[in-house]
Amino acid sequence: MRIVSLAGGIGGARFLRGLKAAAPDSEITVIGNTGDDITLFGLRVCPDLDTVMYTLGGGINEEQGWGRADEHHTVKEELAAYGVEPQWFGLGDRDFATHIVRTQMLSAGYPLSQVTEALCARWQPGVRLLPMSDDRTETHVVVADADGRRAIHFQEWWVRLRASVPAEQIALVGAEDASPAPGVLDAIHNADVVIFPPSNPVVSIGTILQIPGIREAVEEKTVVGVSPIIGGAPVRGMADACLTAIGVETSAQAVLELYGSHLVDGWLVAEEDKGVALDGVAVEARRILMDSPEATREIAAAALALATSLGSTPRRA
Ligand code: GDP
Ligand code: CA
Repeated sequence: MRIVSLAGGIGGARFLRGLKAAAPDSEITVIGNTGDDITLFGLRVCPDLDTVMYTLGGGINEEQGWGRADEHHTVKEELAAYGVEPQWFGLGDRDFATHIVRTQMLSAGYPLSQVTEALCARWQPGVRLLPMSDDRTETHVVVADADGRRAIHFQEWWVRLRASVPAEQIALVGAEDASPAPGVLDAIHNADVVIFPPSNPVVSIGTILQIPGIREAVEEKTVVGVSPIIGGAPVRGMADACLTAIGVETSAQAVLELYGSHLVDGWLVAEEDKGVALDGVAVEARRILMDSPEATREIAAAALALATSLGSTPRRA
């Protein structure tokens, strides 16, 4: 089976581990969110691509869900000793090496997709990991606080402010002029099924869908999503702050409606959300908590089974 999964960071990566276990003989292409990417200390950092790469490659800090296992922070401490900003973004010594290699290759003219492939040659994630675009796009958030009304980088809102200041607007800067990375549209076109893991529907999945051409390609396929919201709350993280910013309620029903039946054909929700329904979408209620590798494998298997039952040929003309 040929599977395409969109993915953000932690939630996406955890799910993908289960997907690999559920479909060991499948060809899995992951289209990763790069809207969270940021340049720090002159280095290009791609948090979501790295989280997927480290998680599937066995290098992730399991407790944290991001960053490297067995990490040290000497470089960060030394930078802080010079008073260099920002100090709110956690970068470990091992992680720094990844960003140095990436930045060196980007500076030499390689596109991000080739850089990602080169990094994955070391990590062997067992999936084909593609950035959503080789073009630089960045998610910015409009906030208004004591410092006035301004647009800040998503990471500053998410990591430094912990999404404590309400977002008035969330926008992917550069989206209109961006193109899908090489291989992205072909992978979607050739896929038997497209999966939306429980990633942030606004700043992960929603961001990927904003790259011109991706949404249209995905709409042609059988798509099954796993709700990131259980019983009116995000399972972990602050996805509710992103949903509120775009005027969407934090519920499995509202996220399904946000995606819509043009996009999604099947939707896995928690048992407590079994009342969720939308015309044209097959909703299945089951356990969707990724609290162990085995539970996660079963969620992924259920998503694939639902997709298979819906037929892997496009349902819409
Ligand atoms: P990302 O969007 O993939 O970068 O990942 P995050 O870790 O920020 O999480 C995205 C979403 O996944 C959040 O809305 C969480 O509530 C949701 N989530 C996290 N863990 C689980 C889980 O075990 N099950 C389900 N269904 N959703 C989860
Ligand atoms: Ca993310």
